[in-house]
Amino acid sequence: MIEVGILGATGAVGQRFIQLLTDHPEFSIRVVTASEDSAGETYRSAAKWRVDTPIPEAVADRTVRETAPEAIPEDVDLLFSSLPSSVAEQVEPDFLEAGYVVSSNSSNERQAPDVPLVIPEVNPSHLELLEIQQENRGWDGALVKNPNCSTITMVPPLAALSEFGIERIHVATLQAVSGAGYSGVSSMEIIDNAIPHIGGEETKMENESRKLLGEYEAGSIEWLDAGVTASCNRIPTIDGHLENVFVEFESDPSVEAVEAAFRDAPTADLPSAPDPLVKVFEEPDRPQPRLDRMVGDGMGIAVGGVQETESGVQFNVLAHNTIRGAAGASILNGELLAAEGWL
Ligand code: NAP
Repeated sequence: MIEVGILGATGAVGQRFIQLLTDHPEFSIRVVTASEDSAGETYRSAAKWRVDTPIPEAVADRTVRETAPEAIPEDVDLLFSSLPSSVAEQVEPDFLEAGYVVSSNSSNERQAPDVPLVIPEVNPSHLELLEIQQENRGWDGALVKNPNCSTITMVPPLAALSEFGIERIHVATLQAVSGAGYSGVSSMEIIDNAIPHIGGEETKMENESRKLLGEYEAGSIEWLDAGVTASCNRIPTIDGHLENVFVEFESDPSVEAVEAAFRDAPTADLPSAPDPLVKVFEEPDRPQPRLDRMVGDGMGIAVGGVQETESGVQFNVLAHNTIRGAAGASILNGELLAAEGWL
């Protein structure tokens, strides 16, 4: 087994890590960290456990450690990071300098030219940037990022449509409250409401999707040359981001060809990879967050409502934001790092 640690283990994403890594076939949780306020407490008392399965006994009585390299036992080979980005920006470099491989959820460094932003089923070759990263930064460790939860929802189906020549993407999101973390949105703001703004989210979707769909060539990523515009909205669902996507192409694919491309989207030969990657619903009112967020055990992508528009096609897409969109995405990247010999 590969010993792993979770940085920011008490939060919304951290709890999903704990849930998904319990009984994982390759990874064993060795250490959990959080803020100074939680360090020294048992995990049970530090975490306000909100995941829909009981708190795993193997972790409940562990002592939460401070988030610093000195707190990580020497036999740990991989760190998963679910720290607030402002904290990750400060502390992740300490772990990388100390030689740890870090698979991180936080948004810092996602746009850096030498940091692979990876979805294993979409762009595993981008991992090749790690050698350049180690040369550039002088790190003994290595940093891999997964995209933002709203980006990861739409990119796998878009990757399946690359063969038609994507020219332009428009997307409007309906995002669950768990995407903002436990202290993110107050109940007085969100109940009986929708908020048509999520700070920084639109730019993340626009940039990250173009990097993910870009080509690795001679040591760098050539971003996809397509226009991307996003409009991000928070709605009062708990988990599962639903998105309405409109795509324009160089060619003129039929609805049937688009649906076939979704069904044929390649999977990855990794323990947490869903098969199929994309589930296509025929019913016009699916996917829905409450009904469909657990497709592929929360790692699948659900699409439906594929139809022609004047300039291309539109479809609806849904993924579980704290599983596929966060902890599960980092774990899948960890599995890819293991398979590629980085651990
Ligand atoms: P969260 O619920 O607020 O949890 C934050 C975690 O970081 C907690 O464990 C917290 O520990 C710890 N922390 C806070 N300040 C710290 C400090 N100064 N030093 C060390 N640890 C500290 O946030 P979240 O929703 O899990 O998000 C975590 C990261 O994942 C963020 O960067 C977010 O943008 C990203 N992300 C989230 C989602 C999602 O759907 N929620 C999806 C994709 C990416 P305490 O409990 O001790 O405060």
